Amino acid sequence: MKNVFLVKYGEIAIKGKNRYLFENRLVDTIRKSLNDLGMFSVKKEQGRIMVEPLAEELIDEQPIIDKLSKIFGIVGIAYGLKHEELSMEAVKELVYAHMQKECLDKTFTFKVETRRADKRFPLNSMEINAQIGEYVLEAFPGKLTVDVHRPDRILMVELRNSTYVYSITHKGAGGMPYGTNGKATLLLSGGIDSPVAGWMTAKRGVEIDAVYFHSPPYTSERAREKVIDLGKKIAQYTGGIKVHVVPFTAIQMAIYEKCPHGQLTLIMRRMMMRIAEKIAVMNGSMALITGESIGQVASQTMQSLVVTDSVVEMPVFRPLIGFDKEEIVQISKKIDTYETSILPYEDCCTVFVPKNPEIKPRLDIIKRSEEILSDEIEEMIATAIGEMEIVQMI
Ligand code: ATP
Ligand code: MG
Repeated sequence: MKNVFLVKYGEIAIKGKNRYLFENRLVDTIRKSLNDLGMFSVKKEQGRIMVEPLAEELIDEQPIIDKLSKIFGIVGIAYGLKHEELSMEAVKELVYAHMQKECLDKTFTFKVETRRADKRFPLNSMEINAQIGEYVLEAFPGKLTVDVHRPDRILMVELRNSTYVYSITHKGAGGMPYGTNGKATLLLSGGIDSPVAGWMTAKRGVEIDAVYFHSPPYTSERAREKVIDLGKKIAQYTGGIKVHVVPFTAIQMAIYEKCPHGQLTLIMRRMMMRIAEKIAVMNGSMALITGESIGQVASQTMQSLVVTDSVVEMPVFRPLIGFDKEEIVQISKKIDTYETSILPYEDCCTVFVPKNPEIKPRLDIIKRSEEILSDEIEEMIATAIGEMEIVQMI
């Protein structure tokens, strides 16, 4: 008898020919993310991934469940017991041990449900359910009652190459296995929105790296650290992330000195997009991601977003486009980026916020303003990229 985590995955099951690629990636991600919690065997088995601790002594399951529940592509995690044999004796042995642990000082209603992946088993599911239900009632007299309609607990028996028993399935993160849907570059600021936008895209299996524009001394070292901390939070879900810290002060100052102030934010945002696109190409990314949502601030009106977009050739994904701030805040709390995001270290945009920002910019006018910068800007961009710092988080 052994402890085991049964990992259930959903959507990837429908991916036809690609299925094994998705499963293999999920297995890799699980191995990687459990690395610092001990030694595990991680194996595919007929629509499940089985994670078995290799240590002899009893392990604390909660940290492992916490880790697994952050991995994209997993819909549920059950912690249970495994027996190498496939027999009613094995089922009873596991059920007894499992219920003994679960029934301590509790009374509850239950029912048994059997999944018979190995059809060679002599009894059918209904017969197994009935026999095991009866066995449990006899083994734990007075404590438990059967309720087939609304049980407190469903005692699951799975008959595969081995026998498995569990009764609680913890919710997984859902989505698709990380790294199975191409790569994109996230413009990561220290705010609430962009980490959420990154998480949402990564949840669909897209590998992400990040770019942060840093403007010392207008943005402090603490602001930079905050962004790195947000990168680490995202890395808990993705297994790692590369954050490019791009020195942005010179470009920002040039814009500030030479362009109409009402257009500052927009021209700055366009510069960010240009640079991010170059970094994306260097990294094999196919798209950019931002945390913008329509109408949230002046630089996010429809007109502004269109003007921002037109400076790059890559598609720009904005997963939060239709979200209200409150909805974004809720997700950021759920994924644990909120507390870091609200730390009061200014981002570069708040330093150079114009008093009367343009809310309906026209592309031709913005382009004309940018022409004043044209002879120096390419060189400034090259310098910024040349001097960027790369922080790799695992
Ligand atoms: P966030 O909460 O993500 O900072 P926000 O509501 O503060 O968003 P803006 O500051 O207008 O909005 O930024 C819009 C988007 O532009 C951000 O979501 C982010 O993707 C990108 N961005 C803004 N500032 C930076 C920066 N310093 N470095 C990298 N990306 C940035
Ligand atoms: Mg911001």
